[in-house]
Amino acid sequence: MTRTVYLNGEWIAETEAKVSIFDRGFLFADAIYEVTAVIDGKLIDFPGHAARLRRSLDALGIAMPVEETELLALHKEIAQRNGITEGLIYLQISRGVQDRDFLFPKAMEPTFVMFTQAKRVLDNPKWKTGLSLKTVPEGRWSERQIKTVQLLYSSLRKTEANRNGFDDVLFVENGLITEASSANFHIVTAAGELITRDLSNALLHGITRGSIVDLARQAGITAHERAFTVEEVTSASEAFLTSATSFVTPVVRLDGETIGNGKVGPVSERLLDIYIQDQLSRGVPIAD
Ligand code: PMP
Repeated sequence: MTRTVYLNGEWIAETEAKVSIFDRGFLFADAIYEVTAVIDGKLIDFPGHAARLRRSLDALGIAMPVEETELLALHKEIAQRNGITEGLIYLQISRGVQDRDFLFPKAMEPTFVMFTQAKRVLDNPKWKTGLSLKTVPEGRWSERQIKTVQLLYSSLRKTEANRNGFDDVLFVENGLITEASSANFHIVTAAGELITRDLSNALLHGITRGSIVDLARQAGITAHERAFTVEEVTSASEAFLTSATSFVTPVVRLDGETIGNGKVGPVSERLLDIYIQDQLSRGVPIAD
């Protein structure tokens, strides 16, 4: 049976419901959701779900698309339209649609989706037998080596920092630098040596980072791959970011403190130049 779903104020067939590929829920996991059970034609714990929905939206700075009374009316209507007396009502609200960018404007039009799942929730066989579980390390989200679209935290912190006059954020964990919101971070010591964080699940294994370390070594620059502290950054003579979109981009201030002499340094400039030259000579031609 084709369900009727709710999408941005309209009731439509599930097969007709389309969300843009530029939706921030899809590109940045910039969305929240709630699931409310229905038993015997009754919404279970609805006020709690409505309250948490508001808290989640407030925390992300997404406008509540409808008032709570309207939210309740929508839950009743979607259950009625789909003949659900037992099952689930799923709702998801994303920040909305814009061209891909970690930075987002204050006012966006949220994407609001609801659908039902008809399901027996009252005859769970596990209520008789019980479940068997396995422990795993808590790591939500500690697998930053995987290039997932779970970019919400980075996007929120970068947007907030941007509104306060910074270009980007630098993540610090236990006093040690991991990386920037969407780039690897490197320093150059007074002795002219490159220091970059060693590879682990603490950071994304940047493709540009790998090339820069290789090219630096080929150019006779000593490169150390190890963790380094915030203090090492502010006492470094240079710092820079690397990424596929920014190549080698100098960083001259951290938390308002000057790095080196506060100007773009010679090693950063040289590595940018070497990288561009190297890639222009080795890049894959688009046309045969
Ligand atoms: N770290 C993070 C978190 C990133 O998102 C990116 C690139 N988008 C990088 C590092 C740099 O990786 P690459 O050089 O492969 O672009």
